[in-house]
Amino acid sequence: MLELKNVSVRYPGMKDNALNQLNLSFEKDEFVCVLGKSGAGKSTFIRCINGLQQPTEGEIHFDGTPMSFQKEELRQTRREMGMVFQHFNLIPRMSVLQNVLTGRFGYRSTLKNLIGWFTSEEIQEAKRIIAEVGLTEMENRRVENLSGGQKQRVGIARALVQHPRILLGDEPVASLDPGTSNRIFSLLQDIHERLGLLTIINVHDIELAKRYATRIIALKDGELIFDGKPQDFTSTE
Ligand code: ADP
Ligand code: ADP
Repeated sequence: MLELKNVSVRYPGMKDNALNQLNLSFEKDEFVCVLGKSGAGKSTFIRCINGLQQPTEGEIHFDGTPMSFQKEELRQTRREMGMVFQHFNLIPRMSVLQNVLTGRFGYRSTLKNLIGWFTSEEIQEAKRIIAEVGLTEMENRRVENLSGGQKQRVGIARALVQHPRILLGDEPVASLDPGTSNRIFSLLQDIHERLGLLTIINVHDIELAKRYATRIIALKDGELIFDGKPQDFTSTE
């Protein structure tokens, strides 16, 4: 479903590749955790799949078609990808419901939110997804008043409301305590199993990856140093 062919990324002015000749393919029943120390290339890897970073070499194929970095095609591809972030990237002064609705309609929906322009079907759908992440009681609260774990649940709901085919996470639990991190991973696992959604998450906590992933990938200095089953993984050295 998703394939990286000889993908390298070199940032301008850098001497080494941030990602070096990666060849990988993923199927929709996989829950992949990407491990590696800070600077290993995890974030660059996720950003490539999401189309936020264009590879300097190689291609990314999505359903057998090379990903285009032309504006319109890229927009289409990105609609198929839900993304969750370390710092949530929510709009603090807006409600849970309003933030989730922005996932479906993009930044323009900020304007829609202000003028109350959603159909009742759109609102019902957003509420259904808010219920799935366990936040029904919070749906009219401003995001700035929520805990970190609740904010990330909003982030997950916002990613799901666009019905993505791939769910991507760039260190989604790096700002959360261990108990909350576990509960967020458990939610991601439920969603993965229920929706059959290819899930690829960067994480620096090896134990979390081993507990939840069906497949672990490890990067070091932009090189793939491990690709296999969690039980066979030992270290990022
Ligand atoms: P990780 O997510 O594993 O910490 P990154 O993908 O952020 O790793 O970074 C990989 C390498 O690329 C690092 O050496 C980092 O310093 C470099 N890098 C990341 N982003 C940029 C950028 N925008 N410009 C230049 N170098 C970058
Ligand atoms: P009710 O307020 O009678 O339950 P709804 O189910 O339509 O009616 O709305 C429930 C909540 O959804 C409201 O409290 C409001 O905060 C929010 N809401 C309703 N319409 C909009 C809209 N167009 N944009 C954003 N939020 C909305």
